[in-house]
Amino acid sequence: VEDSVAEDILRFEESFTGINKRYRLINRIGEGTFSTVYKAEDLEYDNYNNRWDIDERENRKWMSPGHQRRPSRRPHYVAIKKIYVTSSPMRIFNELDLLHDLKSSDSVCPLITAFRHLDQVVAILPYFQHRDFREYYRDMKISEMRLYFKSLFLALQSVHGKQILHRDIKPTNFLYNPQQARGVLVDFGLAERQGTDWHQCACALTSEERRYKISHSVYAQTQQSGHQTSSYPKNEIRSSRRANRAGTRGFRAPEVLLKCTQQNTSIDMWSAGVILLTLLSRRFPFFHSADDIDALLEITSIFGRKKMKETSLLHGQVFETNIPSYSDAGHSLEKIILWCTGRTGDKSGPKKELDDEEKEAVQFLYRLMECDPTKRITAAEALRHPFITKAFE
Ligand code: ADP
Ligand code: MG
Repeated sequence: VEDSVAEDILRFEESFTGINKRYRLINRIGEGTFSTVYKAEDLEYDNYNNRWDIDERENRKWMSPGHQRRPSRRPHYVAIKKIYVTSSPMRIFNELDLLHDLKSSDSVCPLITAFRHLDQVVAILPYFQHRDFREYYRDMKISEMRLYFKSLFLALQSVHGKQILHRDIKPTNFLYNPQQARGVLVDFGLAERQGTDWHQCACALTSEERRYKISHSVYAQTQQSGHQTSSYPKNEIRSSRRANRAGTRGFRAPEVLLKCTQQNTSIDMWSAGVILLTLLSRRFPFFHSADDIDALLEITSIFGRKKMKETSLLHGQVFETNIPSYSDAGHSLEKIILWCTGRTGDKSGPKKELDDEEKEAVQFLYRLMECDPTKRITAAEALRHPFITKAFE
């Protein structure tokens, strides 16, 4: 463990009185916008009975003389999610509440328990063994993609079945174990129940959160670095539309970018499509947008101006661009993938066609990256799609 991580762990243990009585912190495994996640050993987990045994006396009865622990005991690992104290109580409650609702789904990482010490809240989840997406996205076979997405859609089916939008589907929030061909969804920090009035959610932001958002916004960054990244008008005077835009740049569906106020579970299916595009094109991250307008333009460069105009109209918006390089018709996803994988160019180069399995994957990709949310495939439908059902054969 790096010195800085060890120091961070020590500071956390000191600030959260009593945490090291129950857990032995091992490493820091995640650091995001809203939390830090640690891997830890649960010292009170009773491996022998496969349950959490908090009765010390009971434990001692089983201990053989001279042993601190029963010989059969194997360490049991948990993930401790330390939610930043700047998060509003409403936001923290929302995440824990949704996890509680989803506890029966075996493709959602369940909440074991949660603790609070002063203003600090921690969520305890079982540690899920997985591989980092960056290690395998370059060489995942189509047959492996079928299994990956089968697992992801099983998870989304159960989440969407409860009318919950995850809102932040991306590789780091879907922990996947290729050996078991199984993954679990984590991070319900931005999730919401369908039909939530998001103005209320916005009001639930604390002043710290608002300040954080402002100081970390792309606007602040471009101001600091002194260069402008985009060429659209900055001095917009029309009042802006407010809608929930939570999520991660590059994974946001068109209707999220267009600030549609009636968003539903289909936004997660678009994000899943971006993951598939990433795997097929071997590019991660696939989109590099600095903000929502850039993100819309990136989507336009693929799907073309005509499609984006139609899509905008669905949400009562008008789409105009004077960027000459964008064609009306856009490009096929086949072509994009061929470009990204270096299969275009002169005739002496490698074969310029996708193989049959890739073509099948692209047909499926079109159903996920469907710009009209009402036509986009649902998780339940995706599980019946040939691309996924072939994973069983
Ligand atoms: P954040 O809101 O900060 O993104 P996440 O819940 O997404 O927090 O967790 C951040 C990272 O921590 C994940 O991408 C993953 O690498 C790791 N992580 C989270 N939960 C678990 C878990 N149950 N098992 C293993 N690793 C986890
Ligand atoms: Mg996350």
